[in-house]
Amino acid sequence: MPPRFEDFIMLGSCGLATAKSLQAAALDMGLDDFSVPQGEVSLLAPILTPPKIVCLGLNYLDHAAETGKTVPAEPIIFMKPRTAIIGPNEEIVKPAFVRELDYEGELAIIIGKRAKKVTTSEAGEHVFGYTVFNDVSAREIQFGDKQWTRGKSFDTFAPMGPWVVTRESLPETQNLSIRTWVNGELRQNSSTRNMAFTVDEIVYHLSRVMTLEPCDVIATGTPAGVGFAMAPPRFLERGDAVRIEIEGIGVLENKVA
Ligand code: MG
Repeated sequence: MPPRFEDFIMLGSCGLATAKSLQAAALDMGLDDFSVPQGEVSLLAPILTPPKIVCLGLNYLDHAAETGKTVPAEPIIFMKPRTAIIGPNEEIVKPAFVRELDYEGELAIIIGKRAKKVTTSEAGEHVFGYTVFNDVSAREIQFGDKQWTRGKSFDTFAPMGPWVVTRESLPETQNLSIRTWVNGELRQNSSTRNMAFTVDEIVYHLSRVMTLEPCDVIATGTPAGVGFAMAPPRFLERGDAVRIEIEGIGVLENKVA
């Protein structure tokens, strides 16, 4: 098995088949000899150097409603640099000059196979799996600039993890609970059924524009309950803990430093 998860994804179905046979053998021989307790390791972000991170804006009906906007006819997309990636329990760094730091809990797609001009029915074959993503945003910069790159591209503004669940293990992605807490207070409480564009539709639309490559990360937009849409707005401060849980995937938690 390759030491890097990204190289494992590159192996395609052959990598997954090998992993399954190794897992079966380990189960037969006594799993304890072949596993490490999670508490004894630090998980990194599952993908450290994706070719690109593409993000959707306004892809949840409830989030579009809370911001007074309508869902676009075609996906609104922007990109984040991979240098923004951090893993579970790593710190989101709030620079002193950023005043309006906000969270966005999102389902992220990990691409497994190159995709160019694929149909919605073909889209699934190109998806490796899914993880939890926090599209951290500096709102005064995002809205002040009119376009979103600077406000969403700071180092540490792309927490991701805790792991990738394969498409085979999570075949139904449009009815998953997605929730975000800040310091234990529930802020976002929605379902992926509120997405305007489904996973397959997103892959279709993006692949009409750009070639999707293995290990690309696609953040599929956030539901209602972000800090800037609260009355009054409530932004993240140093010491705050953001916890995002997506049903069938897991929990991603990061503190602000
Ligand atoms: Mg977002």
